[in-house]
Amino acid sequence: MMTSATTNTATTPSTFKTLAGKTALVTGSTSGIGLGIAQALAAQGANIVFNGFGNADDIARLLDTTASQYGVQTVHNNADMSKSAEIEALFAFAAETFGGIDILVNNAGIQFVANVDDFPPEKWDAIIAINLTSAFHTTRLALPYMKGRNWGRIINLASTHGLVGSAGKSAYVAAKHGLVGFTKVSALETAQTGITVNAICPGFVLTPLVQKQVDDRAAKEGLSNDESKRALLADKQPSGDFVTPEQLGALAVFLCSDAAIQVRGAAWNMDGGWVAQ
Ligand code: NAD
Repeated sequence: MMTSATTNTATTPSTFKTLAGKTALVTGSTSGIGLGIAQALAAQGANIVFNGFGNADDIARLLDTTASQYGVQTVHNNADMSKSAEIEALFAFAAETFGGIDILVNNAGIQFVANVDDFPPEKWDAIIAINLTSAFHTTRLALPYMKGRNWGRIINLASTHGLVGSAGKSAYVAAKHGLVGFTKVSALETAQTGITVNAICPGFVLTPLVQKQVDDRAAKEGLSNDESKRALLADKQPSGDFVTPEQLGALAVFLCSDAAIQVRGAAWNMDGGWVAQ
């Protein structure tokens, strides 16, 4: 694991921002939903610990742009969220840099599609480790900082698949249902504190993870990219539109606000009507 990071000192004084002075760790934030949430939290003044994989130059640019655009500090650590020792090193790094974590967004996730009798056991283990077990480790490591300040926000990126099943996605569905359950227990254990724990359950968001499903379907059914996207949405998402990382970022900002202090142990759908059917 590389624990080196780029630190950008704030260059723009912030006007009043709801999360000024807070530090947010967003796992898997070098792309997709995690990136959208990290940027929405930064826009409210939170310093960001980015995590996730990617090209070093792209990540350096991301840190610089976010820091200068929002006047916050940004660092990156590429801990592999399937490895508990790397998660512990990530927290040591965050503590050294910022003195702890106030907001934890458990977002890193992967998916693999195959029926149970064809599902490679090592893929099952990897999906459970990254999508579910990592949240146990990050939560247990974040809580002491949050309890010390009697303030904290934990947001777990579950999925529509944390609420309903989908053939071919056994490990993913099991991990996301597990994450919704873990959210409830963590929320109950912190119910009388200033720490809240909630889950967000997005429908389809057009990130690299879903683009792969679009590509696979296009190849299998001889569809164009647009036809494959429309077919995916038509199957599941009544609005006919993808959810966006920006919309999910706005929901995360709400869950971090004082107004959301009584929102505890909830699983918030943002899915274009998927689970209402
Ligand atoms: P993405 O593939 O665009 O991004 C995943 C991020 O996680 C990247 O930054 C990647 O580098 C990082 N990552 C992958 N493996 C990692 C590991 N072992 N350790 C650390 N980081 C790792 O995915 P996305 O679509 O933005 O999904 C983000 C989360 O939202 C996931 O938990 C996913 O299950 C969930 N989700 C996505 C959708 C969707 O439609 N895209 C819907 C519901 C839920």
